[in-house]
Amino acid sequence: MKRGNRPELLWGFGLNNREAVKIKNSLGPGFFLRNFSEGSLPGDREMVQEEKPSAAWIPLRVWSELPENRKSAYRELESTQKILIQDEKDNPVDLENVLEEGFLTVVSSPLTSSKVQDAFFRAKEVAGLYGDIYRMTEEIMLERELLSRKTEQLMFLNTLLTNATESLEPADILGRAEKDLELILPIMSLQAVFWQRMPGDDYAEAEIFLKPGMDDEAHSQWLEFMLESASKLGSADVRNYQLARTSPVGEKEGKVLGPREGRVLALPLISRGERFGSLVMLCDKDVRLAKDQVSTINSAVNHLSLALNNALMFRRISTRADRDGLTRVYNRRSFDERLVEELKRHQRHNLNLSLLMVDLDHFKNINDDYGHLAGDMVLERIARIFESTLRSTDFIARYGGEEFVLLLPHTNESQAHMLAERVRSQIEGAEMEYGGTEFKVTASIGVSSMRPGALESEESILHKADKALYAAKNSGRNRVVVSEEENEPLRMI
Ligand code: GH3
Ligand code: MG
Ligand code: MG
Repeated sequence: MKRGNRPELLWGFGLNNREAVKIKNSLGPGFFLRNFSEGSLPGDREMVQEEKPSAAWIPLRVWSELPENRKSAYRELESTQKILIQDEKDNPVDLENVLEEGFLTVVSSPLTSSKVQDAFFRAKEVAGLYGDIYRMTEEIMLERELLSRKTEQLMFLNTLLTNATESLEPADILGRAEKDLELILPIMSLQAVFWQRMPGDDYAEAEIFLKPGMDDEAHSQWLEFMLESASKLGSADVRNYQLARTSPVGEKEGKVLGPREGRVLALPLISRGERFGSLVMLCDKDVRLAKDQVSTINSAVNHLSLALNNALMFRRISTRADRDGLTRVYNRRSFDERLVEELKRHQRHNLNLSLLMVDLDHFKNINDDYGHLAGDMVLERIARIFESTLRSTDFIARYGGEEFVLLLPHTNESQAHMLAERVRSQIEGAEMEYGGTEFKVTASIGVSSMRPGALESEESILHKADKALYAAKNSGRNRVVVSEEENEPLRMI
């Protein structure tokens, strides 16, 4: 069997002349037998040579004289089939021992052509089978390796999803995801931007989560990057944005680098086919991602999309629960909570606090004259008038039907009075229009204030405002009345 024109190499280990000639003649010109004399069997130099013999003929008399370390070196020549030549004088060898010693075939002296050919081709055949088994084993190992990588990936995704669904706070989810992603990627930071298109508008509002601990330069670079990412991936102009921080997990880390100091991966977050945000990872500048890493990241981002979208929805729904559906100002429940908080603050820090109670005059007539929808429209307009007249620290709530409460921190009685007058006259001056008919609305307002240091309960401040409102109604409506009652002392229990 030739490779190109070169004869196939065979080795002989201390063959005598008769044996060597027999082997050469039996196998023909396609083979070259290099016979080493017993005193100089193949050494280190021959063992590392590139061309290895396809077979080695080794008489038992030579083999049994070899020291164990040489035997094992020869055994390691995997591509060489070892054929044992057994002499008539030798005790017959046990086949099992022969196999253990690394021989595939045994042939007995005196050698004949057919014995040589038979032994040689049998050895080759067995070698072929061994080769097949070897390749199959390799394939199985490869499959096993792939399987174990897949298992690792699944375990990673499982951890990521478990951690991501443990909280309903986007900041926590992002902090944990960063820690988890660090296990499979050389990432330095994970940040995110979410956007929401305003109904009927072509612009969006964004919320940006940055990692805490960056300097001003990195901060402004990230901000710019995130806004750009939101405009590009969300294909809408971002008009407004809010800034928030991701919650770091574990001990405080080093400096947070800017987007230009590494390689940025920005991946869209998608829910029901719509992009609602982008996850932005900063990696090492020269990071190269393997194919299976890319597929793991994609799965991770899908999982995180789900968790983050849930968290955002949850937040939207809970905000909605604080608000009045018609006018979008706070509802009575949140007012009650806020009043308790503001009273505590007032008492702790010795601050002024005032409350306006606003009730629309003869509102029933508006419903009766123009219909319920016209009434609804008026309530919405009134809420907008409050918003445009008051400060952002003031708290506006719908207390019931056509009654509103306005809680004014840091506001004393005379300031509250002035403000109430302004609100009253804004309402009076507003042109209402429904279904082509124009009309006007007025409101009565009761004011109650607490001086710094006064101890008062929430019932008491509400009661005072209510009484003042009642007085305003009784004295002709469309007016402001300030409660003149002294602060009622808190009953101590
Ligand atoms: P007053 O000047 O004494 O306050 O008279 P009023 O008619 O405003 O007071 P009244 O309490 O008799 O009636 C309040 C009306 O407000 C009755 C109710 O139908 C109406 N109203 C309450 N909530 C809503 C609402 O959500 N939408 C509309 N359209 N009307 C409402
Ligand atoms: Mg009323
Ligand atoms: Mg009324």
